[in-house]
Amino acid sequence: MSASLANVAYIGATILFILSLGGLANPETARRGNLYGIVGMTIAVLATVLGPRVTAGGIPWIVGALAVGAGIGLYAARKVQMTQMPELVALMHSLVGLAACLVGFASYVDTSIEFTGAEKTIHEIEIYIGIFIGAVTFSGSVIAFGKLAGRISGKPVLLPARHWLNLAALLVVVWLGYAFIQAPGIGAGMTPLLIMTVIALAFGVHLVVAIGGADMPVVVSMLNSYSGWAAAATGFMLANDLLIVTGALVGSSGAILSYVMCRAMNRNFISVIAGGFGTGEGAAAQAGGAQPAGEVVAVSAAETAELLREAKAVVIVPGYGMAVAQAQHTVYEITKFLREKGVNVRFGIHPVAGRMPGHMNVLLAEAKVPYDIVLEMDEINDDFPDTDVAMVIGANDIVNPAAEDDPSSPIAGMPVLQVWKAKTSIVMKRSMASGYAGVDNPLFYKDNNRMLFGDAKKMLDEVLVALKG
Ligand code: NDP
Repeated sequence: MSASLANVAYIGATILFILSLGGLANPETARRGNLYGIVGMTIAVLATVLGPRVTAGGIPWIVGALAVGAGIGLYAARKVQMTQMPELVALMHSLVGLAACLVGFASYVDTSIEFTGAEKTIHEIEIYIGIFIGAVTFSGSVIAFGKLAGRISGKPVLLPARHWLNLAALLVVVWLGYAFIQAPGIGAGMTPLLIMTVIALAFGVHLVVAIGGADMPVVVSMLNSYSGWAAAATGFMLANDLLIVTGALVGSSGAILSYVMCRAMNRNFISVIAGGFGTGEGAAAQAGGAQPAGEVVAVSAAETAELLREAKAVVIVPGYGMAVAQAQHTVYEITKFLREKGVNVRFGIHPVAGRMPGHMNVLLAEAKVPYDIVLEMDEINDDFPDTDVAMVIGANDIVNPAAEDDPSSPIAGMPVLQVWKAKTSIVMKRSMASGYAGVDNPLFYKDNNRMLFGDAKKMLDEVLVALKG
């Protein structure tokens, strides 16, 4: 394939990537968006492999690597549970970071292209920055994976004077960068490059271990953004325009998503990155202190069905537990049944419900819930006072009134779905355990709240039987 044909293919792929991102912004067009992305990536890979910069001898290597990568990808995609998606995403970000590091080192030791003067300096700056971002992304993503998979504690690890440590590390990295560019040859430059890589790896670990459970969604999308910049840096090193554009698209969309999520959680982006927030991963609520007083009122599936049958307006609030229980199909069965009986059933979706942005939308779309009854938090929050039953399915933090009423709560200021304003709220979960942020939920003790204890899928099956009976 000639260089100009490869360029045309790259432009086509870039347009498809932009259309893909546009499509993914809305559940109704997300499927089409995915398709654009797949076609764009196929064109990009083909244009690169068949392009002028790959020699015939290199093709078997590329095909072999593609087969291994595709095999692992297929296996992971088939095996991974919906609840493990964020971990998989974090792991994949780590691979982008690792690739940027490896390409950086390979470009540095590659002597086939001779750079001189300003070009050499620019090439070395690209390598240095690419390896730095790549190493931070790699180690940070591995830690994020460990935290999300529960292999590392979700508690923030806060070293004394950690901000000063970070600042000192950055200053040393800048100084090493100067030494690297001034180095007379590859041998001399390798030492500062390797030391910087070790510091960047430690920096990535330190950055993410300091961030607690409840801020992990922002961290994952931030690492998504870093992985984009790492890919863009790789594009600069390889002089590949498509990689630069694609990396910039991922980098900027990840940054915008992080900002949107911070706004949804009423958190300041800088304070999220600085760490220290969020304490646990669903530990049992602690006794004493600010423990909400009172008793909880448990109901049975039959009583829940009775409350639903008598209601005119119902809002369902799904959370992480619905994903764990895979209860979305039964949820829709109940919705369909109630709507046929004339009950106005709608869904209220919190921006960080579940364990990844859009988690609930994906599950509800899978169960074929119509999009027009799935509303965002801001669209539905004012309607709770006119709602007869707010049914909370496996959600906890996102319906915690302490976020509004208790300034000392770790989630104070986070906007939440105000289910307690409904005539009756029913919380469906297995126990009194806290949610991801590890904080108590005073909602459970409110007079108008009922608890339906048990696995969400099992309890909803019973509710459906009782409704039909
Ligand atoms: P939470 O983690 O706050 O609560 C989920 C609840 O579901 C738990 O309290 C648990 O209680 C219950 N549950 C678990 N399994 C089942 C089951 N099989 N059947 C019934 N209930 C079950 O989830 P939310 O969705 O309310 O809030 C999301 C939290 O996750 C927020 O703190 C958010 O910041 C964080 N987060 C969000 C991400 C995102 O991008 N959306 C990513 C990472 C973290 P019990 O054990 O008693 O059953």
